[in-house]
Amino acid sequence: MHFPTLFSPLDLGPFTVPNRLIMGSMHTGLEESPKHFGRLAEFFRSRAAGGAALIITGGVSPSDAGRAMPGGAAMLTEADVELHRCIPDAVHQAGGRICLQLLHTGRYGFHPKVISSTNAQAPISPFQPHALSAEEIQAEIASFAEASRLAEMAGYDGVEIMGSEGYFINQFTSPALNDRTDEWGGSADNRQRLAVEIVKAVKAVVSDNFLIIFRISLLDLVPKGTPWSEVASLAKKLEAEGVHLLNSGIGWHESRVPTIASMVPHAAFKDATSRLKSIVGIPVAVTNRINMPDQAEALLAEGLADMATMARPWLADANWGVKAEQGHAEEINTCIGCNQACLDHVFVGKSVTCLVNPYALNEHKLQVVPAAVPKSIAVIGGGVAGMSAAVEAAERGHKVSLYERNETLGGQFLLAAAIPGKEDYAQTLRYFKARLAALGVTVHLGVEVTAQDLKEAGVSTVILATGVRPRVPELPGVERANVVRYDQLLSGEVAPASSVAVIGAGGIGFDVCEFLLHCDAPVTATKDFLQHWGIDCEDDAQGGLVKPQPQHAHRRIVLCQRSTTKPGKSLGKTTGWIHRTALRMGGVEHLVGVEYLRIDDEGLWYRLDGVEQCLAVEQVVLCSGQVSELGLQESLIEAGLGVHVIGGADKAAELDAKRAIRQGVDVVMALSA
Ligand code: NAP
Ligand code: SF4
Repeated sequence: MHFPTLFSPLDLGPFTVPNRLIMGSMHTGLEESPKHFGRLAEFFRSRAAGGAALIITGGVSPSDAGRAMPGGAAMLTEADVELHRCIPDAVHQAGGRICLQLLHTGRYGFHPKVISSTNAQAPISPFQPHALSAEEIQAEIASFAEASRLAEMAGYDGVEIMGSEGYFINQFTSPALNDRTDEWGGSADNRQRLAVEIVKAVKAVVSDNFLIIFRISLLDLVPKGTPWSEVASLAKKLEAEGVHLLNSGIGWHESRVPTIASMVPHAAFKDATSRLKSIVGIPVAVTNRINMPDQAEALLAEGLADMATMARPWLADANWGVKAEQGHAEEINTCIGCNQACLDHVFVGKSVTCLVNPYALNEHKLQVVPAAVPKSIAVIGGGVAGMSAAVEAAERGHKVSLYERNETLGGQFLLAAAIPGKEDYAQTLRYFKARLAALGVTVHLGVEVTAQDLKEAGVSTVILATGVRPRVPELPGVERANVVRYDQLLSGEVAPASSVAVIGAGGIGFDVCEFLLHCDAPVTATKDFLQHWGIDCEDDAQGGLVKPQPQHAHRRIVLCQRSTTKPGKSLGKTTGWIHRTALRMGGVEHLVGVEYLRIDDEGLWYRLDGVEQCLAVEQVVLCSGQVSELGLQESLIEAGLGVHVIGGADKAAELDAKRAIRQGVDVVMALSA
């Protein structure tokens, strides 16, 4: 049996789940509009069918003031019950269980009616909250009870009461915010009163078959936050009030410590969960950056937790659980923690999907159906665009050959996986390779294929995914030995020098700086990561924060750009701040608004504010964008082949793995109609 602990049943009290997999709460952007509930139901149904024993919905507010935004999701009336019914129904049809997450955003809400324990404004919201009176607090408690009653009416199997991540309940429990002088603030008992009263009120109105999960903030990761001793006392009170399962919450939205991005080591905060498990008798779930079954199995087998909560991994692969249970873990499409198509989309109001799995939340319009007329298709280029197209075409019954000039598949993702903190990008390559093998795609490595070869092989259609080559700027001295391209550095072809100028402050320029900071001083092991960012999972530090002990290489790094915009402006919304902070911690210097003049023995010459100066560095790394690699296109067209260009070969200016993988799916769908 594969992963025997992970796939053993667990009695949660109200019911028994067949395995230990929880699909954690994620905001999908669909919770807000009932017209999308059918789509949401299909999303959850497919994850239940794919092995998630217990699903938790995206956050739904129990009260008007607790909404995340104007018109944000809320469970307030029996009319809402009718709208929600299709969601638990769909999950139950697939044999799963689903709980509604009750998320009261408190001062994090993005609207003028926000409320909290305090009138102190959140650093991530433009609205000042109203500090609730004791009477108003009672009304909010009652709203949790009513929303739970309605959730049970709608067919949900339980609720998860969101008590972490800096939301409403956490705004009362944490000493970082709650300086009230009434019975709802001050002492730990008073601050914890809201959480306890909410659980009591909910228990009073739901049946014994209804599961109550509480997501407890194990580490606030904000200054003056909750110390472990108070987390422990709250956990014991919640257990005494009848909570069935404690889910781990790590960090607040305003924390300046990464908690879910790709550079966070797998299960980095497991010791906090382990502590929780040691003091309560009810089941606990471990969270954050668990993305493969061997990790989850090891945590559970060690007895560190009873269940494993994963959220984004279920976006990346609907069948995560089934593949793991049936011994096909190598075919799991692994979440790489990039946030580029999930959380980053939430913040710009775009519907959530997944970079590595464009099918996520598009299940209603993307389906794998056999091609009307199977073709003989050649895919040229084995980066993620080409591999995506090859897998998609083979899934739809086409005869597919994949040609890659290098000896290894992967393209730009191979380079990305060399960046410290982006090691998981290699998982995407492992996934595609496993699928190509399982689908019987013929893969030709180290081959410069020609139009003539393809004609002779009987190919009718070519998907050209030949990617990009780095742009080399026209700059005197650019051909010198002290100038290297980013791909030469990241592939190990050239070693980094002890003083380096990086030309180009786009995503790759930032990545190269991280490489220069950490290639010889890694912080990828959990212990190093926790020390680097100043996280305490063992003592009683307030908010779990201690003095950071940053580790980085002792080399001078200067990141240069011609534009005068803020460095890192183009980076992802939810990860850009981490990259900027990491570079600041590592002492990376920025040169903004420069005009490059030449490179010589002395270093990089530039003009800034009309003054010509030399940056005395031993090495200059070019991260100045890319140009499309389209060398084959003309000869293929001349040979009469149908040519479809995707990925970086199509558009180098916005080199983007999300677009590349999606284009691989789209082009094959169009060819299969
Ligand atoms: P890029 O945005 O093309 O950055 C290259 C930078 O080089 C430009 O911003 C430009 O900045 C500079 N440049 C362009 N032409 C130049 C020239 N002739 N001479 C000197 N400098 C020149 O993107 P990239 O860094 O190559 O990354 C490629 C893609 O991958 C981007 O779409 C990026 O979003 C994505 N990516 C994202 C991440 C992430 O979000 N963490 C990481 C890696 C890659 P100035 O004009 O200001 O000098
Ligand atoms: Fe994971 Fe990235 Fe997909 Fe989000 S977009 S689920 S972080 S792989």
